[in-house]
Amino acid sequence: MSAKNLNKILNEICISPELKKAEWIGLREVRERHRSFVGQDGKIRDISSDNTHGIMVEVFFHGQMGYSASPSPHVSAVLESAIRALRQAQAASKWSVAPFDFGASSPRVRPVAKGHYASPKSVSTMSPAAISELVVMMSGRMQKSSKIVQTLAYIDCLDGESRLVSTSGTEIEQELEGIILHFQATAQDGSITQKRSDGENLQGNQQYLTDPSLWLRVDRVAEQSLELLSAPECPNETTSVVLMPSQMTLQIHESIGHPLEIDRILGDERNYAGWSFVRAKDFGNLQYGSKLLNVTFDPTVSGELASYSFDDGGNPAKREHLIRDGLLIRGLGGLESQTRSKIPGVANFRASSWNRPPVDRMANINLEPGSSSFDQIISSIESGILMDTNRSWSIDDYRNKFQFGCEYAKRIQNGKITHTIRNPNYRGITTPFWNGLKMVGEASTLYTHGTPNCGKAEPNQVIRVGHRSPVCLFENVEVFGGAK
Ligand SMILES: [Zn+2]
Repeated sequence: MSAKNLNKILNEICISPELKKAEWIGLREVRERHRSFVGQDGKIRDISSDNTHGIMVEVFFHGQMGYSASPSPHVSAVLESAIRALRQAQAASKWSVAPFDFGASSPRVRPVAKGHYASPKSVSTMSPAAISELVVMMSGRMQKSSKIVQTLAYIDCLDGESRLVSTSGTEIEQELEGIILHFQATAQDGSITQKRSDGENLQGNQQYLTDPSLWLRVDRVAEQSLELLSAPECPNETTSVVLMPSQMTLQIHESIGHPLEIDRILGDERNYAGWSFVRAKDFGNLQYGSKLLNVTFDPTVSGELASYSFDDGGNPAKREHLIRDGLLIRGLGGLESQTRSKIPGVANFRASSWNRPPVDRMANINLEPGSSSFDQIISSIESGILMDTNRSWSIDDYRNKFQFGCEYAKRIQNGKITHTIRNPNYRGITTPFWNGLKMVGEASTLYTHGTPNCGKAEPNQVIRVGHRSPVCLFENVEVFGGAK
């Protein structure tokens, strides 16, 4: 369906006398196709595909938004949803938690916008047979020893489109394609089991799938899983810790992204996803990290997993600093949360699909590069540990105290990387940890990751987010091995 056709449906339902009392109506159509190819131990384990398509109707009445979705694009079905959404808004408007203003022709929380976004193409250029063959080859290649007891490789292909039209003239079309690649090897020797993994989470850009360097990465995963079997356990000590970008992804996601979501700060998520240690008065005042910490919200970066031009409220996306020189200045809240909290926010009002209302989400949350080369970081450390790739995580409901484990680590002694360490873990408290940020890698150390599985909201919404980070060095971090 085109935006023109969606507008036609909107015009037809607006003729209905039952919708006369609606002050504003918006339609958001989402169509998404998801294909998954899984190879295990050199064989195909599973190929699956699913499609979803529907229309969310939003109706504004007396400061209140009502929602109802239709899996059918037929005018009668969309009208039925619109009437349900109007009734919901009428009923709720009497007890509004936060009645919103109506602007010249539209609720102020739904700006009038027109535009188009298309991610780089990826899925359409590779055949299902070629993708199946690739996951079989990858999982087969990692079977390098009888001690490697399981190998797994999967590729998830996503392609979708969303359209937003409204009675105030909004007309937005966005097309998204992405590939999730993951491969892992599990090695076992007696009672010791170790897993090593690698992968990519990007919109478009599938070049790495046909680049010879992919096979070096596949080999390295298998070799490192074996290497970990005989590596010494991570010591228990307080030391310098270098986090590689893959682990920084999790660190940024859990201890910067989630606590800065304004709906959490307002308490909306406290029963489910949790609250936040950050308070409204902290914006502009809290020294979240050291002066080297600069974090941006940036859906405009091409190719990251959550790049787009407009959020699902029609707010145009722009790059914004959340933390500048360590100071917290902006939260992750869309126009509704900004209106309620008076905290400066971003265009992050996003829904996971057509049958969910938008809420405050992360998009691409990136840690900006610094000026240190990788070698400068390592040579500055007298004694420390480098950790790579998240393995486990635990963080409290306020996103304050955390404990994270990694797959792989290296000892650093007298400015040099020495031997491999297994079962590396570290723990900390969010703001002291970020204030211990001592060196930030230059652009050459940047790597883009992300996750397709950020969960939040009731009913649950699983959404894709992107994270780009350089290598970072933290001081005075408590590390410990797997025995604790
Ligand atoms: Zn998350």
